[in-house]
Amino acid sequence: MPNIWKAALRDLEEKVRTDTFDFWFKSIDFLRREDASVHLTVDDDFFKAWIEENYLDLIEDSIETVSGEPLAVELIVDGTEEAEADDEQQEAEMVQALDADEEPVAARVGRAEQQEARTDGPDTDSADAEQVDAPLPGDEDAASDGPVLPEEEHRERVVEAGLNPRYTFEEFVVGSSNQFVHAACSAVADKPAKSYNPLFIFGGVGLGKTHLLQAVGHRIIERDPDQHVVNLSSEDFMNQVISSIREERMNEFRTQFRNECDVLLIDDIQTIAGKDATQKEFFHTFNALYNSGKQIVITSDQPPGELPGIEERLASRFAWGLCADIQPPEIETRIAILEQKAESDDIDLDDEVALLLAQNIRTNVRELEGTLVRLSAQAKLMDQPISKQMVADMLDRMNIDQNREIGVDTIIEKVADYFDIGPADIKGSRRPRSISRPRQYAMYLSRKHTEHSYPELGRLFGGKDHTTVLAAVKKYEEKIEEDPEIANLFEKLETKIFG
Ligand code: ADP
Ligand code: MG
Repeated sequence: MPNIWKAALRDLEEKVRTDTFDFWFKSIDFLRREDASVHLTVDDDFFKAWIEENYLDLIEDSIETVSGEPLAVELIVDGTEEAEADDEQQEAEMVQALDADEEPVAARVGRAEQQEARTDGPDTDSADAEQVDAPLPGDEDAASDGPVLPEEEHRERVVEAGLNPRYTFEEFVVGSSNQFVHAACSAVADKPAKSYNPLFIFGGVGLGKTHLLQAVGHRIIERDPDQHVVNLSSEDFMNQVISSIREERMNEFRTQFRNECDVLLIDDIQTIAGKDATQKEFFHTFNALYNSGKQIVITSDQPPGELPGIEERLASRFAWGLCADIQPPEIETRIAILEQKAESDDIDLDDEVALLLAQNIRTNVRELEGTLVRLSAQAKLMDQPISKQMVADMLDRMNIDQNREIGVDTIIEKVADYFDIGPADIKGSRRPRSISRPRQYAMYLSRKHTEHSYPELGRLFGGKDHTTVLAAVKKYEEKIEEDPEIANLFEKLETKIFG
C-alpha cells in the first residue's frame, strides 16, 4: 500500500525545507506494511542512521496524519536481503540523484573569476573611488549610498550570496526593542571583522533575526562587491557537510569554504545542536575564518551559554565578540512595521485598523505581517478597504483575545477599589501589608497587561524604582504558579479590570 507513503511524503514536503526534503526524503521508498509498522528502504547505513536520529519522529507523525493510526516506522537499508534490491544499481542511481539535487558550495560561495574580471572592467575606477570614500562606521548618510555596482550586477551578487532582496536595512523598522542589535549589525556591515567578531544575534521567533543578518550581507555587497558574502542556514551547512563526507570531498569543501568566504552569515545555529560531525566542522570553519580576519555573524533562538546540545568550545567562541538580543517590538514599532509593509505592498491601511492589529498581535512580526497580508487579500476579494470588523473577525479566528489594551491607571483604580483603598495609596509609599500587597498586585497586572517598561511603570506608580516593580512582578509570577489561591485572586482581579 505505497499510497500511505506517497501521502506521507506530501505531508513531509510541507513540513521541512525543500533542500532537506530533496536530500533526505525523496529517495526513501516504501517496502511493505505490517500490522503495526511500515517498512521503508533507505540508500545506506549512513542515511539510515541519520534519518533515525533526526527525522524518524517527523516521519512517524506524517504517517499517522495520513493513515489515521500510529504506525512504527522501520528503516531498512536497500540492498540487504530484506529489501531485495540490486546494490550496484542503487548506488549508481544515488550518485546521480545527488549530482542533480545538490547545490555545490561553490555556487553559494560566490565566483572568484567573475570577481576578478569585474575589477578589470570599466567600472574599476568608480568602484575604487567609492571604496576610498567609503563612509566611516556610524556615518548616518551611509544608508543612502546606492550600490557600487550597476543595478543588474548588484542584483546578481545578491542572489549569488543567497540573500532575500527584501531583507535590507532600509526595510527594517528600528524601535527600542531592536535598536541595539540594529546598531551592532550596521557597525559590522560598515567595518566587517573590525568591530565585533563574531556578532551573535539571538531572540524569539519572527522578530527579525534573519532580516538583520541578511541586511549585513546586503550592505557589505553594496559597499564592496569584492567581498564574498556567504549566507546560509545552519541546516544548509549541515547538509553540505554530510554530502561532502558521503562523496569524500571534504577537503574540497573545507578549502572552498575557508578560502572563498570573506563574510559568513549563518542563520539559526541552534539547529546544529546534538549534530556532532557538523559542530566539529563548524568549529574548524569558524576558527579558520576568524583567524584570517573574516567576519562571522550568527543567529540563534538562545544566547550562546544557553544552547543545549552545543559543544562548550563552540558556545564559548560564539561569545567572543558581541552578543545582542532582539526583543518583541513595542506598539509604536509594530504600527510602523505595519505601515511600512502596507506601503511596500500597496495595501490601503487605515490608522485605526493598524492600531487594532498592533494592539492585538504583540510578539511576532511575521504573524503581524502575515495577518495584514491575509486581510488585504480578503479585502481585495470583497472589493472594499480593510475594516475594523474584518480585523476583529480575523483575530477571533486566530483565537486572539481582543480589547486588552488597558491603562495602568485603570488597573490601579480597579485593584484599589477591590481592596477598598484609594488609588493614591497604591501610588504612595506607605508600607502596611493591606496597602503594599494590592500595590504589588497592581504592578504585576500592569506589567502583564500593558506595554510599559519597568522604569516607566516605576514612574506611573508614583516614582518608584524599577527594581521595586521588577521584584513585585517576579514574586507574583512565581506565586501564581505555586499557589492556586493566589492564581484565583488574580483571576478575580482580571475579571474586575476587564469587565
Ligand atoms: P526571525 O528570523 O527572527 O524568526 P525574520 O527575520 O524572519 O524573523 O522576520 C520575520 C518577518 O518579519 C520578516 O518578513 C521580516 O522582514 C519582518 N520583520 C521583523 N522585524 C522587522 C522590523 N523591525 N522591520 C521590518 N520588518 C521586520
Ligand atoms: Mg529566522
